[in-house]
Amino acid sequence: MGVRVAEEWLHSCSGCEIAILNIGEPLVELLGQIDFVHIPVLMDHKYYGQMGEGEELEIPEADVGIVSGGVANEEHLEVLEAMRKQCKILIALGTCATHGGLPALINSWGMEEGIKNSYATPTTDKCQVPTDVVPKPLDRVYAVDEKVKVDLILPGCPPNPQLIAEVVTALIEGRDPVIPGKSVCDTCPTRREGKGDVSKVRRFVQNADYDPEKPIDEMRCLLEQGFMCMGPVTAAGCARRGAPSCISARVPCRGCFGPVRRDGNQMLDMMNALASNGIDFKSVVDRRSLLRFSGAHGLLRPINKKSGK
Ligand code: SF4
Ligand code: SF4
Ligand code: SF4
Repeated sequence: MGVRVAEEWLHSCSGCEIAILNIGEPLVELLGQIDFVHIPVLMDHKYYGQMGEGEELEIPEADVGIVSGGVANEEHLEVLEAMRKQCKILIALGTCATHGGLPALINSWGMEEGIKNSYATPTTDKCQVPTDVVPKPLDRVYAVDEKVKVDLILPGCPPNPQLIAEVVTALIEGRDPVIPGKSVCDTCPTRREGKGDVSKVRRFVQNADYDPEKPIDEMRCLLEQGFMCMGPVTAAGCARRGAPSCISARVPCRGCFGPVRRDGNQMLDMMNALASNGIDFKSVVDRRSLLRFSGAHGLLRPINKKSGK
């Protein structure tokens, strides 16, 4: 019998599950050594017994549990707690699970206000927010480690399939996985010349300066060109084919791997990075958007309407 793996998705878009499948050929080899005992995206499983006769949510015991998505409602929480109980090692997969991800943007309003805003727009008249059958929302979106103990985090939106394979292989071989502990900048080959001569953030409607015929290492760093590139404050891990994914497409990093330090604050760290590059942080129109991938852990909160903070 191989290593027993259980996988669950909470407040997830299934991109993390697609990243697992995107491991590609090495996955075929891994499948010889692991047994998926539970993975709703691929195998039907009735949580309360085949006929719904059970009284408690059932997830089989596993050596490794993988959870994608944040925790947004009571059902997510119940499933997560069952996963923690049944799995010896629990991995939070993807930035939604590790730092709240895009769904945690709702924390800017709070769950109640955010849901109300979504259902009642200027074009939807007298819309009712559903309360029957759907699980009760929590007060905000939480990262997985705010609710249960997590043994390992693997961020990314989506995460890098090669790193998922590395983690699973390491667990099978009983060694520590090799995961990059650096920033996106540390894996970026662009040319750095020191402070640029731009004092305000340039909007990305303007093109960056580069020659598409020339390789990335001949393009000047996008932050030095005045663009909001979040490479300095974002965890490495997306680089494939020699450069971070967005930079290889000649666009700035948006921060999707979350902060470099697990408990870092991408917004504050980016303010410092901008200042070091001579760019006035006041020129950033919506500073809170720098937490677009990492708004859990209480970092994104509803604005106090009186003080505006
Ligand atoms: S981290 Fe990204 S890919 Fe994974 S569930 Fe969240 S939004 Fe989807
Ligand atoms: S700021 Fe962006 S372009 Fe510059 S080195 Fe970092 S990741 Fe590369
Ligand atoms: S460059 Fe930044 S935004 Fe783009 S994939 Fe990598 S971490 Fe994500």
